[in-house]
Amino acid sequence: MTAVDLRSDTLTMPTPDMRRAMAEAELGDDVFGEDPTINRLEQRAAELMGKEAAVFVASGTMGNLLGVLSLAHAGQEVIADADSHLFVSEGAGAAALGGVQVRQVPTAAGVMAAEQVRGAVRPTNDYHAPLTAAICVEDTHNRHGGVCWPLEALSAVRAVADEYGLAVHMDGARIFNAAVAQGAAPHEIASIADTVTFCISKGLGAPVGSVLCGSAEVIDRARRWRKAVGGGWREAGVLAAAGLWALDHMVDRLVDDHANARSLAEGLAELPGVSIDLSRVQTNIVRFELADMSASDFLAGCRERRVFGGGSGRAVRFVTHFGVEAADVQRALTACTEVLSAS
Ligand SMILES: *Cc1c(COP(=O)(O)O)cnc(C)c1O
Repeated sequence: MTAVDLRSDTLTMPTPDMRRAMAEAELGDDVFGEDPTINRLEQRAAELMGKEAAVFVASGTMGNLLGVLSLAHAGQEVIADADSHLFVSEGAGAAALGGVQVRQVPTAAGVMAAEQVRGAVRPTNDYHAPLTAAICVEDTHNRHGGVCWPLEALSAVRAVADEYGLAVHMDGARIFNAAVAQGAAPHEIASIADTVTFCISKGLGAPVGSVLCGSAEVIDRARRWRKAVGGGWREAGVLAAAGLWALDHMVDRLVDDHANARSLAEGLAELPGVSIDLSRVQTNIVRFELADMSASDFLAGCRERRVFGGGSGRAVRFVTHFGVEAADVQRALTACTEVLSAS
C-alpha cells in the first residue's frame, strides 16, 4: 500500500508534463544573466507579485536570507514574530552572515498586531539600541497552521513601517495558498512588502527553488549576496522551467489541498483526545494537539498504518498537497481513529 505522506508539501514530485518542460528548457549561464528560462521565470514572478525585479534562488531560506540582507545591514535589527520560519528554522543565517539580529514578537497565531510591531521598533535617539531596519511577515504562517494574514493586518503593519521609515519583507513561501484561500491576487497581498519570496518547491510542486521579488535596486543587492553565499548557479533554467510550468498549472488546484485539509481537520475534530482549532485551518496545514498521547507515539501508530505526519510534544502536523486525494484523507482519518482508540 502506498503511503499517505502528510509530512510536508515539499514532498510533491514533478509531473510528467513538468519533467518534459524541464527537459526541453532553453538554457544559458545564469551568472552571465543568459539563462532565458530563468529570465522568464523572474519576469513572471515580478509581474505576479507586482514588483520591478526578481531573482531565482535555491530555497525559501535563501530567499529570506537575501531579502533580509538586502534590507538591513550589520548591527541592525529586523522585527519578526517569534514563531517565524525566519527566526526558528533558518540557522540564524541573517545573524551569522550579515550581523542582523531578529527582534521577536510573540503572537497567538503568527499575525503581529500593529501595536506590537510599533512597540518593537527601537528608538533612534538611543545609542544603546540597535537600529530597526525592517519588519518581516510570514504569509501563510507555517508554525501556526497555515493561517493567512488578514489584508487589513498587513496594511496596518505597512503603516507602522511607513511611520518609522522601515522596509517590509514578506516570507510568502506559501503566498499562493493565501491568495487562493482569500480570493486575492498575490500582488494585492504582496503590495505591502518591499521584498517578497515564494517557494515553487512546496504546494506548486516544482522540485527546487524560490523567487525573491522587489525593486530593481534591492534585487540587485540580493544578486550580490546570492553570489556571496554560493548561490550563483549556471544552467539552472532546468529548474526554472518547472517553476514556470507550476505557475501555469498548479496554482488553481491549491483549492483541492485546502478542501482536503478542511475535511481532514473536521474529521479529526470528531475524534476523542484531539484538540483542534478549526478556525486556524485556512489552507493546506492541519495542526492539532493530543490530550492523552505523545505526538511521537501517535505518529508511530500512524506510520504502521502507512500514514506519515510530523510533530513534537503533543502537537501533530499534517500537510495536504498535490498527490494527496480525498480517499487518502479518509485513510488518514481511519488510521488516526485506530491509533487513538488503541491508546
Ligand atoms: C519552507 C519554508 C521556508 C523555507 O523554504 P526552504 O525551501 O525549505 O528553505 C521559509 N518560510 C516558510 C514559511 C516556509 O514554510
